[in-house]
Amino acid sequence: MRPITATIHLAALQHNLRRVRDYAPHARTMAVVKANGYGHGLLNVARGLAEADGFAVLRLQEALELRAAGYQQTLLLLEGVFESTELNAAADAGVSIVVHAEHQIAMLEQASLPVPIAVFVKMNTGMNRLGFVPQAFASAVARLAACPQVSSITLMTHFATADEAPGIASALQRFEAGAAGMQYPKSLANSAAILRHPESHADWVRPGIMLYGATPVQSVTAAHFGLQAVMHLQSELIAVQTLPPGESLGYGATFVAERETRVGIVACGYADGYPRHAPGGTPIAVAGQVSKTLGRVSMDMLFVDITDIPAADIGSPVELWGATIPVDAVAEACGTVGYELLCAVTSRVNFKVVHG
Ligand SMILES: *Cc1c(COP(=O)(O)O)cnc(C)c1O
Repeated sequence: MRPITATIHLAALQHNLRRVRDYAPHARTMAVVKANGYGHGLLNVARGLAEADGFAVLRLQEALELRAAGYQQTLLLLEGVFESTELNAAADAGVSIVVHAEHQIAMLEQASLPVPIAVFVKMNTGMNRLGFVPQAFASAVARLAACPQVSSITLMTHFATADEAPGIASALQRFEAGAAGMQYPKSLANSAAILRHPESHADWVRPGIMLYGATPVQSVTAAHFGLQAVMHLQSELIAVQTLPPGESLGYGATFVAERETRVGIVACGYADGYPRHAPGGTPIAVAGQVSKTLGRVSMDMLFVDITDIPAADIGSPVELWGATIPVDAVAEACGTVGYELLCAVTSRVNFKVVHG
């Protein structure tokens, strides 16, 4: 078997869920498991997060998969339904929906559902992506409250800069103004807001990335927040080359050895989801020792410097990211965020679920 494996640690998911509750002890937790559980496998992460009060996904199909697997908690479609035919199936399965625009209210008003459906009404507080502007919010909520197809209402928004210097003060102010006098439960906080803005915790928090043990705040490590890596992406050396000075490596010959260099060839490439734009020097570990990549990442393989790891040889274990190499460190080298790397792991990688 090709050795590249993403091992999913259920104990780390459970630990990170406890961290959410440490930070937001009075809120219910809507675990965000969209994008195939941030690349970890939807049902894999649901197992580790079975104690969550709810799960949020994008596609109806994912919600139905969770119901079929026996999860009875609140399930939420974060973009709501895309067409009216999805409303019946969602209502039938007891799946809650976001309502972010007028056409979705009209859909509900015209529907005839087997049972009424729970809605999360979204306010646009400055992200300018989805949601009703604060001035239009009260009338949207009033229409939903009057709609017999609606069983319950929760108010929500999503912050644009919870992870950055501007913070959430202005968005929170807009939210409070737009929702003034409304007695419905509220859901505002993503991971960054959970970790940095306790004033936004409200009734339901919506953690995503922190559950997977990566940081939502680029300047602060996941370890600092007490989070544990859930995915350990590991492979092995499948060949070793010794380059004399002046010899180059890989496509484009972008690395040229200045001294005699021992190079490990790792069974992992961009077709596995490892970013092609990872520059030489990106952190990687061989046999538990931290080293760096060399040259250009190819479709199926990449290169690691093992000059200073003499024991490394064919079959030596390699960690692309996990407990030794934070996914955030790889992301930083690539000019992106851990989210993107985790979501990009492809189906060519073997997935293994462990309890420890
Ligand atoms: C993805 C998403 C989240 C989770 O965000 P993280 O930064 O991963 O915690 C929360 N709320 C909404 C609406 C989302 O789309």
